[in-house]
Amino acid sequence: MQDMIVVKIGGSEGIDLDAVYDDVAGLASEGRPLVLIHGGSFETNVVAEALGRPPQFVTSPSGYTSRLTDRRTLEIFEMVYCGRVNKEIVEKLQWRGVNALGLSGIDGRIWSGPRKKAIRAVENGRSRIIRDTYTGRVDRVNSDLLALLLDAGYLPVLTPPAISDEGEAINVDGDRAAAATAVAMGAKALLILSNVPGVLADFPHESSLIRELQEEEIESIAQTAAQGRMRIKLLAAKEALDGGVGHVLLGDARCASPITRALNGEGTLVFKETQVRSDGL
Ligand code: ADP
Repeated sequence: MQDMIVVKIGGSEGIDLDAVYDDVAGLASEGRPLVLIHGGSFETNVVAEALGRPPQFVTSPSGYTSRLTDRRTLEIFEMVYCGRVNKEIVEKLQWRGVNALGLSGIDGRIWSGPRKKAIRAVENGRSRIIRDTYTGRVDRVNSDLLALLLDAGYLPVLTPPAISDEGEAINVDGDRAAAATAVAMGAKALLILSNVPGVLADFPHESSLIRELQEEEIESIAQTAAQGRMRIKLLAAKEALDGGVGHVLLGDARCASPITRALNGEGTLVFKETQVRSDGL
């Protein structure tokens, strides 16, 4: 879809959600096709704690951290992501006159892919295998369904989990699911907004913002400057570029008009060498 954009909003502290909603409403009223994707990690931790199920995280040998998702954790995850968070976003957009429609990746098999049989985790330098986790990755996106909704004037608001090939709900990374969605929809741009101005060369110093990042540089930045969740965002950016998405922007969602600003080139633009930088999408 030619002008379509995919926007992933983070759930960390400091994000100005009202500014995101206002911006979405403005763009929607101009007729810009948009898919909004969100997570709910912070709030899931709070609820899981309150329900006596403190969150657990594991680190893979390649250094990526993810939530350990057993069946009970998955249920809490769904309560928060598909319930509390998704419905609040839909309500806030409806209040602004946007016909938002909230769905998780399991609905209509919007996001599907294999469930991991086991994951390898590193603890205190020692590696162990963990089974029975409900995690996986998105291999396929039901772009027909999303196109149908967009064509009918709805604004899809999507959230993990995804559905496994066997039909089980699986926790997937929201940034990478957003990348898969942008690829499948032939989106013009993927915007990943969080509580930092973009990729910082010297985290947490915001003056060290990297304005442009070539795809070839991602690997070295992911190994050196970027830590934690920023590394996954860079991986998602690379997947989107490799899938043919023209522009990937990692931007700030703590300000007014965060989407418009990112579209105007604020933040970190990640691009392929073959692309010419263009301001104003
Ligand atoms: P989400 O927005 O999806 O909830 P996070 O907010 O956890 O995800 O991801 C962005 C976080 O990545 C930032 O808040 C920051 O703490 C962290 N980070 C680590 N390294 C860097 C870096 N080099 N540049 C920017 N952010 C970084």
